[in-house]
Amino acid sequence: MKTAEQTVHDVRSGATTATEELETALGAIKAHNDELNVFLYVDEEGARRQAQAVDDAISRGEDAGPLAGVPIALKDNLCTRGIPTTCSSRILEGWRPPYNATVVDRLLAAGAVPVGKTNLDEFAMGSSTENSAFGPTRNPLDPSRVPGGSSGGSAAAVAADMTPISLGSDTGGSIRQPAALCGLIGVKPSYGLVSRYGLIAFASSLDQIGPFAKNVTDAAMLLEVIAGHDPLDSTSLPEPSPTLVAHVNDGVSGKRVGLVRDLVDGADEDVVASVDAAAQALRDAGATVVELSIPEFRLGLSAYYVLAPAEASSNLARYDGVRYGLRVEGVDVTAMNEATRTAGFGDEVKRRIMLGTYALSAGYYDAYYAQALKVRTMMIEAFARAYAQVDLLLGATTPSVAFELGSKISDPMAMYLSDIFTIPTNLAGEAALSVPFGVGEHGLPVGVQLLGPGRSEAQLFAAAHVLEIAQGR
Ligand code: GLN
Repeated sequence: MKTAEQTVHDVRSGATTATEELETALGAIKAHNDELNVFLYVDEEGARRQAQAVDDAISRGEDAGPLAGVPIALKDNLCTRGIPTTCSSRILEGWRPPYNATVVDRLLAAGAVPVGKTNLDEFAMGSSTENSAFGPTRNPLDPSRVPGGSSGGSAAAVAADMTPISLGSDTGGSIRQPAALCGLIGVKPSYGLVSRYGLIAFASSLDQIGPFAKNVTDAAMLLEVIAGHDPLDSTSLPEPSPTLVAHVNDGVSGKRVGLVRDLVDGADEDVVASVDAAAQALRDAGATVVELSIPEFRLGLSAYYVLAPAEASSNLARYDGVRYGLRVEGVDVTAMNEATRTAGFGDEVKRRIMLGTYALSAGYYDAYYAQALKVRTMMIEAFARAYAQVDLLLGATTPSVAFELGSKISDPMAMYLSDIFTIPTNLAGEAALSVPFGVGEHGLPVGVQLLGPGRSEAQLFAAAHVLEIAQGR
């Protein structure tokens, strides 16, 4: 499939039309969606209307925008006006949001063509997209394996050449981990860089929306469009969108990179080998690579599994059978609430609500929630110490290549460990991306992770591009 960059070029120059590009995407979705279960909803009508609007603008000689005519897939936790938005949960059955997420409005203004909504782990809780009420998504590179999660549908859409780019959300790794498992670039932007308005909340202090793409330039183009201050999100940084694409070729000459042992140890051999090879590629391009140990990173998983469920237990209280989606009747309001939530939420969501409610309850708050907040502060300080020494950090994205469907679903701890290397960044509110580097077991892609301080996205893209070039891409 054409890159987003090429598509924009061709659409703007008249070599193709947005409508033709859309029909190619719709054709690929029709051919493979039954097998892979990537899209929960395809908005053919809305997409055709938007593609036509782009083509009309071009024929009038107008600027059709930086993503003119590029088909894009949206994770189904992003609100789309009048279009079902399910979070892969029965509890939102039948609900159609009355407004668009800010990122969706920005995409439309930039000339992109949203084609539909992709599968995820229910409310973004999971690492395999198997926790969906609508069945698992399969990895296009090997359909017996998971695409990762929770943004597995958005990763699979790009990996299966249905759309050149897509959006996911990353609370503890949900963009970077599926990107690694599907051989894509996936970016977790700095907290506050991208508006969360209209992103259905899981853990509000950690959630960020970010791009999937097959190459660094496409990811940078997409992030430029969606980033920048939004008055509708009080946590949005008061700054315009950063310049990213212009820095993709900046290289890493003179940069100091910290290879973090705690982001590699314990990973499979093929993953470790890829990270070492990536370190060498950065050295070859003029960076200095030093080994670092940041033991605080090992506390991230335990802190996350207190903080994220705590926030989720509060955020998910709004699904009460009154305001959104599903209602199961009961003799009184309390019985109706209970019946609705019992029927509407899946097992993993219920587990998180119970964990979070427990961690926040009187008598346990200090022991769990307050303690986890202290760990979060330690994490922020540990990152700050590391970034006083080096510009960027390097490690693995996830401990293994894509695993078999069903292999971890009955063992929550094994599933949670998928995110052991991605969670520290979310807790610190900083930036990180996953870039494919090398091939692992069964010929499957390996993702290496590049991490940087808040607002270091341009630098991260430049380093990721060095790794692309090293692989002849
Ligand atoms: N897999 C992690 C979880 O289950 C992270 C999810 C995410 O980033 N949305 O919570």
